[in-house]
Order: sequence, then C-alpha cells, then structure tokens
Amino acid sequence: MRRTKIVATVGPASWDPPTLRAMMEAGLDVARIGLAHGDLDLHMGTYKRVREAAAEVGKSVGILVDLPGPKVRCAPFSEGGNELVDGTMIRVVAGNDASSSEVIEVDYPEVIRDVVVGDRLALGDGAIVFICEEKDGDTLHVRVIHGGVGKGRPGFQVPSGRLNLASPTKEDLHYVDAFVEEGVDIIAVSFVRSAYDVRAVGVERPPRGPLLVAKVETRAAVENLEGIVETAGAVMVARGDLGIDYPLSELPHLQKHIIQRCIARGRPVITATQMLESMVHAPLPTRAEASDVANAVFDGSSAVMLSGESAIGIDPVNAVATMAEITNRADEEFNHSAWATQIRTLRDDDTITDPSIRGTDALTLAAWEVAEKAHAKAIICISRSGFTSRKVTRFRPSVPIMSFSPDERVVRQLGLSWGTSAFVTHERSTSIEAVADALHIAKGKHGLRTGDQVVVISGQSLRTRQTDTLQLLSVP
Ligand code: PGA
Ligand code: MN
Repeated sequence: MRRTKIVATVGPASWDPPTLRAMMEAGLDVARIGLAHGDLDLHMGTYKRVREAAAEVGKSVGILVDLPGPKVRCAPFSEGGNELVDGTMIRVVAGNDASSSEVIEVDYPEVIRDVVVGDRLALGDGAIVFICEEKDGDTLHVRVIHGGVGKGRPGFQVPSGRLNLASPTKEDLHYVDAFVEEGVDIIAVSFVRSAYDVRAVGVERPPRGPLLVAKVETRAAVENLEGIVETAGAVMVARGDLGIDYPLSELPHLQKHIIQRCIARGRPVITATQMLESMVHAPLPTRAEASDVANAVFDGSSAVMLSGESAIGIDPVNAVATMAEITNRADEEFNHSAWATQIRTLRDDDTITDPSIRGTDALTLAAWEVAEKAHAKAIICISRSGFTSRKVTRFRPSVPIMSFSPDERVVRQLGLSWGTSAFVTHERSTSIEAVADALHIAKGKHGLRTGDQVVVISGQSLRTRQTDTLQLLSVP
C-alpha cells in the first residue's frame, strides 16, 4: 500500500473524463485545479468533471483549488515566441498589449514603482532571468542574464518583498465564495506572508469548511512560518516561487525545515514543483528527478505534487504512474522508528494551552506507542473533522492507518494525509456504535482478519476536536 499521497494538477492535457479516470486509477489522490489561467466557468467545468470521474471510478478523490494570488503577468509574446538574448537590455513597462524581444509589458503598474535597481527578476518559473540596471520614470531597464524564448503570457517574477499587493486578492475571494458554495475540499492560498493572510480567506475550519493550504513561497512566509503552520490546515512547499526569493542552494534545506515544522504540528505538507519536470516532454524522468521524489518522501512529505507534468505534459497518466512507482518504493525504505522518535521531541504541543488539543496530542502519541509495542495490525481513527487522523499520521507508524468520518468532505481531505486510507461512515450517536461500524468496514481491508488486534482512537463526546478514548481491540 502506498503511504505518500499524490496531488496532480489538472489542465488542458488531462481535463477530459477518460484521462481523469485513468489518472485516478494510476494513483491520483487529490486533483489540483490552478485558477491562475482561465475563468470561473472553465474551472467550474473542470471541477464537475473531476467529481464525475471520481464517482465513476468509485474512488474518494479530493479537489484542491489553487488561488491565483497577486501574480503579475506579461502581455503576450508573439505567436511562436520571442528570443530574449543573453546580455541584451530590455525595457519593462506597464501595459496589456504585447511583449517582444525589446519591450516586456506587465499588467501591474505598481511593479515598476516597487522594483529597485539591482533586483533580480524572472519570467515563468524562473528559466529566463534579468537584473534591473536602471529605472527612469515608468520604465525599468533590465539586462538578460539567462536568455530563452518568451512564450504566451508568462508570470513576471519580482522579489516578493517588493510586491505591495495583498494576498488573498479580491479576485481570490470571489473564487473562494464560488467554490465553497460547491463544497470544495481544499483551497490553496498563494503568496501568503503571514498568518493574517491565511485568516483573511475567512472560511470555517473542517468539518464545516475546506482545508486551507498555505503555500510557502515567499521570504516573508518562511520568516513567519510558525504562525502560518498554526493557522493553516496544511502547507505546500512551493519550490517554484520560493526559488525566486531564495538562492536555489537554500531550497533543499528550506524544504526539510518547512516539512519538519508542519509534521510536528500535525499539518499535512505537500512538496511541489518540477518534481518530474522533464516528463512534460519525455516518457521517463531524469535520474535526478527520481531521486528528488524519493528524497521528498524521506524528508517527511505527506504528499508530492505534479504541475505541468499532468496539466500540459505529453502523458499525464504516465506521470502519475511514475510518481506512484517512485513513492511506493521510497515508502518501503522509510525509516518509521527514526521518524517517530524525532517527532516525539519536535512536537511542541506541550506549549499549547487548549486542553482538548493537548489531549489529542497525548492520546495520538500513545496510540502510536501502543500500536508499536502491542504489534497491533492497524490504527483505526474515528475522526469527525480529520484532526485526530492528522495528529496520528505525523508519527508515520509502520502499520496501516484507517480513518472514519461521517463527513464525505473530511474523507476527501484526508487524501492529503500521509499513510491513511479514509472511509465514510454512518452518523452515529454513540462512540460504541461508531467503533463497531469502523471495525466492520475495516475487516478484510489491509489483510485485517477476525482476532487481529487493532488500536482504536476515538471521542466519546460529539465535539469535533475532542479525542478521549484509546482502546486495544480485537477485530470481531
Ligand atoms: P504555482 O505554485 O505553481 O501556483 O506557482 C507552486 C510554486 O510556486 O512552486
Ligand atoms: Mn507559486
């Protein structure tokens, strides 16, 4: 059983029903819809097709919509692209008409005001790089230091500290309203700088609202990481934009640090961008990409993500299957006990004053220990909001984890959490009935048989976050 989850971006190469179904069968757990290109109608259409495909395949698939955030875009380059030659000077001005080899137009006049001489600027995911050498009035004079071909309407990257544009934007909040209305599972917030930006999205926490993913992709977000992790439901290590705010040599270390802080607090964390990048054009990844995915698993990622590989690549299903194969193999090598020992000391819930959160912390720690010491065959979490499951999975137990909630959206949200399968159960008024249901469903899954011992963690009260019971039971 694969433990690390797979998020794949759905786009023009994959938004038709047969490809969606095949990606789900190949291992997709959460479908990501990037809202940065296209309009609400287009994205709503994709959203509905993903839901239909999941129903046809009979798999619980989470949907993550990724808000555009304050992204600056260039006016379109010519058909076929324009060569931006190393060493040449280019003018950057405000405008929406056209970009060329001599002039780049950008859609936020404020950007020209905020950039200063010496800033490093880039196009798209950073393949084409400029340095601002001079500024006069409304024009930036930039030198091309890494040339390439400008195509379509790429993003225009500036150091995030320069951008005085707040996240979430007004446009983001319109998308939030529309997708919350549809019952979306997960919303990712781009370019957050602090916990304040995460709160500004203004949605309720699970089970009443979507799981919020804070994308850590700015220097400010790294500096305010603790507050962001505490406030958000989950986090994305958004290596694309993070690699513009930091030298690339810092990225592997930032990735490890962000992942540790998230798992310590029981927040799922997605490692994203360029994981199998060469598969946009090629049938196989590079050796370096295969290693990157496996190392992201060893770093403790809850999920790994495909972007262009599945959205615009030559073979989205093959990209998902390749990701599944690499993560599956890496899961086998995962050092469960070293990880759990580390999390025991890293978890800082001792500093949390809310008694119900402290209680969940203590009981989930105990659940892991009992499962290991008693050689239990599985851990069963009765978790209405998914909170308890997320706290259990941070210990990365070697035995299977099964989560049960009466809320379908919570079950889909658990598609981001490492190592747990999740099932919808009936609404029950007592915990005894809920446990009996769960054991009934669990039997036969992951090889569970009558008489096998399992650890069951649940809550007697109906308060969503209150976990208060730990049992060692035999499968009936
Ligand atoms: P994006 O975010 O693909 O929406 O830019 C991910 C990243 O920056 O890595
Ligand atoms: Mn980004």
